[in-house]
Amino acid sequence: MDAAAVFSLEGRTAVVSGCNTGLGRAMAVALAEAGADIVGLNRSEAAGLGEEIARCGRSFLDLRADLAHGAPAELVEQAAALTGRVDILVNNAGIIRRRSALEFSETDWDDVVDLNLRAVFQLSQAAARRFMSQGGGGKIINVASMLSFQGGLRVASYTASKSGVLGLTRALANEWAPLGINVNAIAPGYMSTNNTAELRADADRNDAILGRIPAGRWGRPEDLSGAVVFLASRAADYVHGHTLAVDGGWLAR
Ligand code: NAP
Repeated sequence: MDAAAVFSLEGRTAVVSGCNTGLGRAMAVALAEAGADIVGLNRSEAAGLGEEIARCGRSFLDLRADLAHGAPAELVEQAAALTGRVDILVNNAGIIRRRSALEFSETDWDDVVDLNLRAVFQLSQAAARRFMSQGGGGKIINVASMLSFQGGLRVASYTASKSGVLGLTRALANEWAPLGINVNAIAPGYMSTNNTAELRADADRNDAILGRIPAGRWGRPEDLSGAVVFLASRAADYVHGHTLAVDGGWLAR
């Protein structure tokens, strides 16, 4: 087996939601380094990312998309404008709201579930339809969380949405594996991004979290690079419905 060829994404086009920053940005760069052209579905402009991807010899299309109130199927069709096809979808865009459950508002429930779960299903469905129109086969990678496995504190809608992402990953994998479409997820541990800025700024929470991570450090966005390239590549052709933790050992504790 030629390992480099098995992991190569040469000739593939990957759509990554929320790749202007954080984990999405690192995953977009990793996919480009492995050979894929990239389409971003971004609410905010992905400043400098086009240049970074060009340095890998790949193309980048930055589509403006606010996924808060649904993800229209046309987005995937627009994404296909870059190269004429879509082969990989990374459902990364996501938000969190931290409030005690007694004070949780309907907005904090709806905003999180609409983006983290509803848009994930809608984009996945549009991508799978696109894959079928191209002759079948494709890769969908969802971004789950430690809170796909655990309850968390003061994050009811986030935990519900990310636990839903794990279930949806399995449900779609069961239906689409026979079509040659791999649906899997990555569950990042505690990573240093905007999403966790509030936690890291709270000295007590920061120490408590750090003290529980066997690797002894917060994750970095680049820690997801290998996992996303693997799941997007031919190396993962027989991997279906799996949620891969990249968590510095958090779940092993
Ligand atoms: P982040 O830096 O806050 O990035 C979130 C991304 O989602 C940004 O690109 C953001 O765009 C985008 N987004 C937010 N609302 C959107 C909307 N309405 N429409 C389109 N895009 C929207 O946090 P991150 O840590 O990289 O998060 C990426 C994913 O990883 C999320 O699904 C998150 O739940 C998940 N995750 C993170 C951690 C962690 O420890 N950091 C752990 C587990 C899972 P803007 O910049 O325009 O807001």
